[in-house]
Amino acid sequence: MPIHILPDALVARIAAGEVVERPASVVKELVENAIDAGATDIRIECAEGGKRLIRVTDNGSGIPAAEAALAFAHHATSKLASADDLAEIHTLGFRGEALASIASVSQVTCITRHADEAGGTLLRFDGGRLIAQERIGRTPGTTMTVEHLFARVPARLKFLKSTQTERGHIDGIVTRYALAYPHIRFTLVHDGRVSFQSLGTGNLRDVLVEVYGADATAQMAEVGDAGQMSDWRLEIEAISNLQSPISVYGYASLPTLDHANRSKITLFVNGRPVQDAKLSYAVVQAYHTLLMTGRYPVAVILVRVPPAEVDVNVHPAKAEVRFRDADAVFSAVQRAVRRALLDNMTPPAPPSLLRQWPNDRQESGATALAATDERPSIVEPTAQPPLTGSEAWERVGIARQTGALGGRVPVTDAATSSAPITQPSPLRTQNLPALRILGQLAESYILAEGPEGLYLIDQHAAHERVLWERLLAQHELGALPSQHLLDPVPVTLPAESAYLLEGQRDMLRDLGFEIEPFGGNTFLVRAVPALMIQDDTATALREIVADLEMGDAALRKDLEARVLRRVCKRMAIKAGRVLSFAEMQALVRDLEACESPRTCPHGRPTMIYVGLKQIEKEFGRLG
Ligand code: ADP
Ligand code: MG
Repeated sequence: MPIHILPDALVARIAAGEVVERPASVVKELVENAIDAGATDIRIECAEGGKRLIRVTDNGSGIPAAEAALAFAHHATSKLASADDLAEIHTLGFRGEALASIASVSQVTCITRHADEAGGTLLRFDGGRLIAQERIGRTPGTTMTVEHLFARVPARLKFLKSTQTERGHIDGIVTRYALAYPHIRFTLVHDGRVSFQSLGTGNLRDVLVEVYGADATAQMAEVGDAGQMSDWRLEIEAISNLQSPISVYGYASLPTLDHANRSKITLFVNGRPVQDAKLSYAVVQAYHTLLMTGRYPVAVILVRVPPAEVDVNVHPAKAEVRFRDADAVFSAVQRAVRRALLDNMTPPAPPSLLRQWPNDRQESGATALAATDERPSIVEPTAQPPLTGSEAWERVGIARQTGALGGRVPVTDAATSSAPITQPSPLRTQNLPALRILGQLAESYILAEGPEGLYLIDQHAAHERVLWERLLAQHELGALPSQHLLDPVPVTLPAESAYLLEGQRDMLRDLGFEIEPFGGNTFLVRAVPALMIQDDTATALREIVADLEMGDAALRKDLEARVLRRVCKRMAIKAGRVLSFAEMQALVRDLEACESPRTCPHGRPTMIYVGLKQIEKEFGRLG
C-alpha cells in the first residue's frame, strides 16, 4: 500500500514513545525497515560507534519517488491501513514514526529506488527539514545515511557512551537480527572494517558459527524442526489454520556450554526481538537440574504464532509483546528445548553394582515383556524416574484394565545369564510371595525370607509405593480426602514460581490442596491432602512447586502424578527410623497387596532379592 499519514484516531491507539535513544536504536529501526522491504542483503556501516555515521543499505523494494519525502513525516507508513490491522501485524514496523524521529535529531540522506521505477531519488534532511531532493541512479533498494546523531540535541549527546560501548550495542542488534533471519545476508562494518558477516544461507547453524564460533555451536542442539525455519511471514497463513499454532525453532546449548547470566538467551517472536522474562524463564526451566545454579544457557529461540495471537503494540522500543495465551507459548518453548536436550544428551550409565530387575513398566502388560536385564536407558537425565508421570498413570490404568495384577508375565531367561547376581527369580513376576520378616538392617531395610531366598526391602521406597497406589486409587475415584488446616499457612514464593502455582491452583485443588492468592507472591494454604495434615505445609508446597517447574508442563496427568509422588515421598517412612516388628509386618503386607510392589513411584527398586542358589554359589556349595 502507498505511504500515507495515519489518521489521528489510529495514532492515538498506537503505543508511542521515543525510539531513538542511541546509535543502536537507529540501526535497529533501519534494519527493520530493510527487512520489511523484503531485503535479502543488508549492509550496516558505522563510524565512531554510529555517533558520526550510520549507513544501512538494502536490496529491498525501495520507496517510490513520489512517496519518498512522505516517508519522513510523522505517522507516515505503508504498513498499516486501519485499526483492524492493529490486531494482526505482519511487519516489524507499523507506527510510521522511526524515520521522522531519526531525521529530527540528525542529518539524513536517503537514496532509494523502487523496483518498478526506472530511476532513483535522493533526499536530504537536516534536523527534520527537507533540504534537497533530486533524481539519482541506483539499483533497486534503499540506502539511509544518518550523520551527526544528536549533534543538535546536547541533552542526548551527553548520554552517549564511549565509541566502544555504542559499538557493542550495535553489534548486539545486528547479530540478533542475523540470527532471526538466517536467509538474509548481513554485513556489519565498523570504521571501514567488516566486523561481522552472515552468509544468508537460510541455515541458522551457519549464523551461530559466525556469532558464537564453531566450538560453541558444536555444543548446541537444534530445537524444533528445521522445516519451521523459513521466513515467518510466508508461514503465517499456514500457521493460522493449524490447531496448535505455536511453532518453536532454534538452538540451545547442551549443559557443557553455559553463561553467567541470561544475556545469551535470544528470543524472537514472529521475527521481532523480545525481552520477555517469562519466556526466557521457560528456556531456563528446560535445563532444570542440568545446569549449576547461577549458570544459564546460550540459546536462540524463534517463536512463531499467528499475528492475532500476539499484541506487539505494547511499547515502541522495549521489545515487549503480550500473548493471548502466554501459558501455551511458555510450555511450547519449554517443551521444545527440553526435548532437544533429552534427544541430544548421552544418558548416564545404568547402575551396575547390584543388577536391578526391569522396572515395572516392563513387568506388566502383555506387550512389554522384559527381554533384557538392563534397566531401560534413562531418558530423563535427572536423578529422577525413568518412568514419566503420565506413563506411570497409563501403566497403572492398563494394569487394572487387563487384570495384569494377578496374571504373571513370563520373562525370558536368555538375557539374564550374564548377570552374576540376578537370576531367574520370583522377583521377575508381578506379585510377591508371602514373606517372613527377619529383622531390620541399618534402620533402613527390612530383611525378609521368601520361599527361594532373601529379600532386602527399602522401607522408604516400599512405603512410597504403598502410599502412591493408595492415593492413585482414591484419586481415580475422585475421593482424595482433603483436610482443612486449623491455621491457614501463608507461603511466599519467588515471582516466577508464583506464576506457576497460580496457573495450577485448580489442579492442586483436585488433589486436596486449597490455596488462595494472598497478595503479591504470597499464597494462603487452607487445606491439604489428609495424608499431609501433619506435614510442614510451607516446605511441602515449595517442593511441589519446584516439581511443577521441572520438565513438561503440558500434560495435566503428568503434573498430578508429580505432585502425588512428592506427597508420597514426603509422607513415607524415612530411612533411619527404627521399625517395630509389627510395623515391618504391616508395611510388607501392604506392599504385597500392591500392583507393582517392586518399584517405588519414581521407578527405583523397592527391594533386592538374593536367591538361595546365588547364596549357595557364593559359599562355594554349588558346582
Ligand atoms: P514504519 O516502518 O513504522 O512504517 P518508518 O518511519 O520506519 O515507519 O518508515 C516509513 C515508511 O517508509 C515505511 O512504512 C516504508 O513504506 C518506507 N520505508 C522506510 N524504509 C524503507 C526501506 N528501507 N525500504 C523500503 N521502504 C522503506
Ligand atoms: Mg520502520
